[in-house]
Amino acid sequence: MRFLSANKIFDGRQYLAHGSVLVLDSQNKLKEIIAASFQIQEKTEMLDGIITPGFVNAHCHLELSHLKGKIQKHTGIPGFGKQIIMQRMSGFTKEIIHEKAMEADVQMWNNGIVAVGDISNADDSFKVKQSSKIKYHTFIEILGLNPANEQMMFDLSFPFYKLLQSMGLAGSLAPHAPYSTSLQLIERLAKFDKENNLPLSIHNQETEEETKFFFGKENDFKDLYDFLKADISWFKAPGCSSLQTYINTFNDQKTMLVHNTFSTQADVAMAAGKNCFFCFCPNANLYIENKLPNYTLFKEHHNSLCLGTDSLASNDSLDLVAEANVIFKNSNVFSLETILQMMTFNNASALNLESDFGSLIPGKNAGLNLVNFENDQLKLTKKII
Ligand SMILES: [Zn+2]
Repeated sequence: MRFLSANKIFDGRQYLAHGSVLVLDSQNKLKEIIAASFQIQEKTEMLDGIITPGFVNAHCHLELSHLKGKIQKHTGIPGFGKQIIMQRMSGFTKEIIHEKAMEADVQMWNNGIVAVGDISNADDSFKVKQSSKIKYHTFIEILGLNPANEQMMFDLSFPFYKLLQSMGLAGSLAPHAPYSTSLQLIERLAKFDKENNLPLSIHNQETEEETKFFFGKENDFKDLYDFLKADISWFKAPGCSSLQTYINTFNDQKTMLVHNTFSTQADVAMAAGKNCFFCFCPNANLYIENKLPNYTLFKEHHNSLCLGTDSLASNDSLDLVAEANVIFKNSNVFSLETILQMMTFNNASALNLESDFGSLIPGKNAGLNLVNFENDQLKLTKKII
């Protein structure tokens, strides 16, 4: 048995009463939380800092880990997409992709991350996930802007979902983004996840070009579609925001909107009423668009905010603490408590993993980290378990 306490203990949503002690069994499972007493004082390890549950990374693309340092910064999303496609066609071997995904997985574990929401377009990362100490929820991502290709695009990707299941890995289906996935396909994927009680995810309003595209203004996606030789002359811009166009395809189900850099107050209010989580990936936003979301718009929605690293194609590390520090450096909208909640309970909840991760759960080992907060910067002091 191990008795642990610290200056503060954060349980995933709030701080515990001062003097609380965590009791762990021999397998590092949380046995109970008790009040400090004279009898256990000698046995209690007193740590300097804040104890938190293991971190949950809400958004990653493990299969892109081999692209670290390969993608030019500040190109905007259409340029980024083009570079990713070119790099993926440039002949990296399966071995390299596997090796880099493995290294990224270890890096996350060492950074205190115990569970991850991860996007997959193929099966390149499945074996890494299967042997990992980290729990993954994989979103099998499906694209297809032309409604005429809906069935074909679904049939191309659905086998990856079946493969995940056969490997005993958790997952759901996810549309990529509103500019790359037709309304019909988004609706179909949302319906599938709803029927199977699975969380949904979509990249949302990551670039201003997306807004221009939906309002029928000139935009940089034209370049990307020309490069892909995709004829989109049939596309009729709806004349409203992308989110407004597709939000009614959700059936009040858990949905993670990733990025939200160009979301307006009206967009945020609309999504908040629809059971949506808002996931921020600040380092990736700086890498690709060199712009951060207006965090003030999200202040009231602290129970629905998530934090993710995105992939190594648009980040130097897979470290939630580094993401938190970008927010602390650029905004004073959120308290430390809210940011810690965005690194733990909210992410677990958005991924349907809250019964095992993201908080201090009796009978479970959800990981424990020790952090310190000094000069408005967060630091992972150590991974306790
Ligand atoms: Zn992403």
